[in-house]
This record gives sequence, C-alpha cells and structure tokens, in this order.
Amino acid sequence: LLYTLFSIFHTFFFLKMFTISMENNSQNSDVALNVHFLHLPDSEIAVYEGDILLRRGQRSAINCESCLWPKSLDGLVKVPVNISSDFSLAERSWIADALQEVSTLTCVKFVNRTTEADYVYVERGQSCWSYFGKIGGRQAVGLVKNGCMDKGAIQHEMNHALGFIHEQARSDRDKFVKIMWEHITAEQGNFGKVNSKNLGLPYDYSSVMHYGAYDFSSTPGKPTIVPVPNPLVPIGQREGLSNLDVAKINKLYKCSKCSKIASSFSSVNYPSPYPNNSNCLWLIRIRRNKIFLQFEAFDLQTSSDCSSDYVKVYSGNSKSSPVLLDKYCGQGPLPSIVASGSTVLVEFASDETVTATGFRASYNRGMNTP
Ligand SMILES: [Zn+2]
Repeated sequence: LLYTLFSIFHTFFFLKMFTISMENNSQNSDVALNVHFLHLPDSEIAVYEGDILLRRGQRSAINCESCLWPKSLDGLVKVPVNISSDFSLAERSWIADALQEVSTLTCVKFVNRTTEADYVYVERGQSCWSYFGKIGGRQAVGLVKNGCMDKGAIQHEMNHALGFIHEQARSDRDKFVKIMWEHITAEQGNFGKVNSKNLGLPYDYSSVMHYGAYDFSSTPGKPTIVPVPNPLVPIGQREGLSNLDVAKINKLYKCSKCSKIASSFSSVNYPSPYPNNSNCLWLIRIRRNKIFLQFEAFDLQTSSDCSSDYVKVYSGNSKSSPVLLDKYCGQGPLPSIVASGSTVLVEFASDETVTATGFRASYNRGMNTP
C-alpha cells in the first residue's frame, strides 16, 4: 500500500512538473495532465507544434493512475491497437512486428482493437508523435514513412503511449549527459528535465527513448547531447528495445517477467542448478543475415515429451512464430541451430520439481552470402 501511495504521489508530482514546466510555452494554464509529445528523432522535417503540447483536460492529478493502461485479471496489460490502412500491407506487418517484440518481452500485450473504447490508432503522420500515457478513447500515434519506421522508433512512440518520457528528460540526467544549449536554438523545449519516476532503474544510454547526439541541432555537426564523463558512449539507437527498456515497462506495470534481449545467455544460476519454476525468454535480434545459435552446454531434467523442463526455439519474435527446435530436454549436445530471419526467440521452462545444471548458449551472425 505504501508503495502504491508513493507511486501515486510520484506520478502526481511528475505530471505536475510537466504542467508547470510547460506553462511558459503555452497560453494554456489549465490543470492539464495529458502531455502530448511531438518529435522527430530521425528526420529533418520541422516539428510543427513543438515537442510537447499540453492538451486541455479535466483530469485531476490523483486520477492519473488512469494514465496507465489497465491490467486484466490474467496479469496482462492489453493495449488495443488499430493500424491505419494508409500504410501498405508490408508497413503494417512491420509495425505489428515491432509491437510484437514489446508483447513478447513484457506483460503489455498489443492486441488488435475490436470494440474497445480506449485504443491506439497508428496513423501516417506528418511528424512522429504520441500522447503521453493513456488518454481515453481513440488516441493517435503518428509515424512518418521515412522518418520513424525503424523498429526502435515505432517502439519509441508506443512507449510514450504506455507512459514513458524521453530518457534524457529524467530527473537525474545531468549526471549522465550534458545538454549543449548553445547548439539548440529553436527546440529548447525538447531538452527539458522533469521530476520523473525513475522506477529505481539505471539511466540508459541505449534506450529507444534516448535522443541521438545530434537531434535538433541548430549547428550542423554540433551535438545537442554529450554523454558524461565519456562523450563517446553511443546514444539514440532505434534498432529496438534495450534490456532496460524492457525492464522499465515491466516495472511501471508491476509485472514480474523474465525476458531479455540476448547476447550470450544461460539458465538462471548456471552452472549451478536452475531453480524450479524459472521460466525465461531470450530474444536474439540482428539487423540482417542469419542467426547461428549454439548451445555450449545443455543439461535439463529428462521427462517424456519434455513436458517438465524444456528449451524451445522459435524463428521469429513470438511464441506463435514457426518452431525451429521443439521442446528439448535431457542432456545435450544440441546441434547448432540456424535461423534465416533477423529474430530468434528462446524459451526456457522449468516445472516445480527436479532441476539440473541448465544450459549456456550464444549466437553468431552469419556472413554475407552473395
Ligand atoms: Zn519521443
């Protein structure tokens, strides 16, 4: 209960700060708690209304639990989505694929909207933008054809709709980045700092919510954001959710889910025995080429049909993707597994009895073939 009260207080304070911070930029001095983000991380198209807009609204601050999408009894946070038919079929499946990654790795499930009253409508916009959190009814997310169709850029806009601000707007950002105000003339409002709810998780340079070093620069070649103390740390990737992005979604929505963006990985406690009920998912994501997955060690509880503990591998980013390796258990070795797509999902499940030392795995990207 204390934690909940604390969260509500935090949410209130954070939103209040937004309201205050925007009053100077807006004629609107209403208590307006819905914040509207507009920004273009990857394009040169001018922002037509500034980065953040207040929306006239009647909500009181304490109601702002309603800025989050509700969790259903099964523990899932279903977010109904409709994708405009202004996008081609290929674009729609690309957008759906980017959202599926969020659905696989977190307890947020983007589902096709049927009759739900509150939903996200992904439209072809003149800029890349989103509301902040759930606003009720149909809420648009704007994507520009050549501006924000990278997987991570789509996830970025949807993350706003889930309630996330920009990483470099965090309250503690000055410990991690320096804002180069002298290189920002027109869009200073995009570089504000808020009294954010940081969820007890670290600042993340590799978040899809972080601006790039040169975004909104008024001086070509001059950065607007420089990481400190090491200015060479890359910022502003849009390849896809980072592990901390995943953790933050699960934390904000109070879900316990083991899921990771994988590099090399192993079962919990490896090489000591994994605990009972230690289920986890690993998503391998590359830009192109093939994925070669190797299990360097493998030792799972043996059961008929591997119904107790198992590893299962999918070619794709969800448990409904084609199966590359069906439930596998017992002792290895396993042959190496080759996937032709850019994502592979590895599922590990263990039941409530008998454990073993588990597994360790890693992957390589295939070489370019002519
Ligand atoms: Zn944004």
